[in-house]
Amino acid sequence: MAYDAVIIGSGFGGAFTALALVEAGLRVVLLERGEPVARDDDDWSPRRILLEGRYAGPSPIQVRQYGASSPSPLHPMQMLGGNSVLYGGASLRLRPTDMDHWPLDYADLEPHYSAAETHLTVHGVQGEDPHEPPRSADFTSPPVALTAPAQRIHRAASALGWRPFRLPMAINFSDPTRPRCILCNTCDGYPCRIEAKNDLTTTVLQAAVDAGLQIRAGAAVGEIEMMSGRARGVVGVDTTTGDEFRVTADRIIVAAGALGSPALLLRSGIDELSPGGDWIGRRLMRHCNAVLTGVFPFVTNPDQVFHKQVCLTDFYEDLRVELGTAVGTIQDIYTPSADVIKHFAPLGLRRVAGRLTQYMQNLLVVAEDDPQRDNRVSLTDERDLYGHRVARVDHDYSVADVRRRDYLIHRARRILRRAGAWITRLYEIDSFSHGMGTVGMGESPASSALDARCRVWGTEGLWVVDGSCFPTSAGVNPSLTIAANALRVAPSIALAD
Ligand SMILES: Cc1cc2nc3c(=O)[nH]c(=O)nc-3n(C[C@H](O)[C@H](O)[C@H](O)COP(=O)(O)OP(=O)(O)OC[C@H]3O[C@@H](n4cnc5c(N)ncnc54)[C@H](O)[C@@H]3O)c2cc1C
Repeated sequence: MAYDAVIIGSGFGGAFTALALVEAGLRVVLLERGEPVARDDDDWSPRRILLEGRYAGPSPIQVRQYGASSPSPLHPMQMLGGNSVLYGGASLRLRPTDMDHWPLDYADLEPHYSAAETHLTVHGVQGEDPHEPPRSADFTSPPVALTAPAQRIHRAASALGWRPFRLPMAINFSDPTRPRCILCNTCDGYPCRIEAKNDLTTTVLQAAVDAGLQIRAGAAVGEIEMMSGRARGVVGVDTTTGDEFRVTADRIIVAAGALGSPALLLRSGIDELSPGGDWIGRRLMRHCNAVLTGVFPFVTNPDQVFHKQVCLTDFYEDLRVELGTAVGTIQDIYTPSADVIKHFAPLGLRRVAGRLTQYMQNLLVVAEDDPQRDNRVSLTDERDLYGHRVARVDHDYSVADVRRRDYLIHRARRILRRAGAWITRLYEIDSFSHGMGTVGMGESPASSALDARCRVWGTEGLWVVDGSCFPTSAGVNPSLTIAANALRVAPSIALAD
């Protein structure tokens, strides 16, 4: 079959672009190296998902981070729907001030934020977030009542004079025609066994398939084929048969995630062809995230209920003048099971950490990080089992990144203490769950890899539409912005010759 567009990757960037293009009447195929998740009991097993990496893909990335001198292999999760299947559903917008270094304004994104919130049925309440950006429409549905652990955080933060608000969430709390959330504690980090999380497979991809999208799962794309500066197609490997395949189309849309997209462009030699090619792979961001654990003199969540429900933006603008960035947000987050806590606790403290799990409650801090030129994705000479060159990541936080994180940690500690915690402990996050940058958009190829419509500078028929295109990371979770931006650029992709 002939296609008008090939999309690589089924996360927020790929799925939202796919929906917009099929609705515009284009014939579109989406290639995804992962397979649909099982939706069985193992999907709610902390051991299977968090420790054994049930969905870890076979292709490694060599990661050097936190000042280490050499890299270690990381196997990213892969599945149809991308990281949306595992994500926590927190759906926040950037603030107008976050977009100072973007080649567009908040007003350019605003209508698409509303559309994305509708597609994902985000449950939220307008007017509670003290730094809420302008909205043209209210949320489609109200949030559910705060559960007991979330109330504890809300009360403590309010008592300190701050303005906690209910976190907008893409989870089905209300639609009776679909499975509804049962408020269990296996949400963030897990596939939803009952499909109550509004991940992309239960929402946008389903709508796109109904409108004519073809999905090919188990398709690992190795290279983009270019001819005279124009993208013509892609070559990849069927992960089940091992056979090579080739798909041609006039529009090639890369949405393989902040680590996968630059790797694919570099494997295809796009850095040599594009005047902005030196920026491909650079300015990797992932937020300076950390979890602060409080240990309480009582069992914090005896009924094991869901409680990713409270957020604070009170400190968002505190360091803007000094550092030129947001500080970030503090969010309520669940406590993993005793097995998981034990596994990640320092040697010697494992047994006690396991016993203390039921007395713990956590806060997540999401701090903006700098787009540093030398934090980057490049290629090694190693090949994966499909014969594709393996990517390497080099990442170190700046002094300012750690400062923003610690600014939030200090306030998160006060909240946990006020809520009754006796002691607190900081855990750094070493995943790339909030990966961004690496193929950033900008005003010119002298300073960016993509133009303002996410087209690779100096090429025809080639776009990058996932979290890679962010010029800065802002201080909020990225998925809703990836979705809104994909809806923003899709019409220009549809109209391109
Ligand atoms: C545990 C967890 C919790 C999170 N919670 C939140 C949250 O609450 N709120 C929020 O906003 N964000 C959250 N995030 C982050 C969010 O999920 C990501 O920012 C978002 O999914 C990124 O979307 P994307 O389109 O950039 O890429 P991805 O979701 O990474 O999708 C890229 C896809 O491309 C595929 N791919 C890669 N290479 C190839 C190739 N060569 N060929 C074919 N396919 C390929 C991958 O398998 C993947 O499916 C969370 C992430 C994790 C892991």
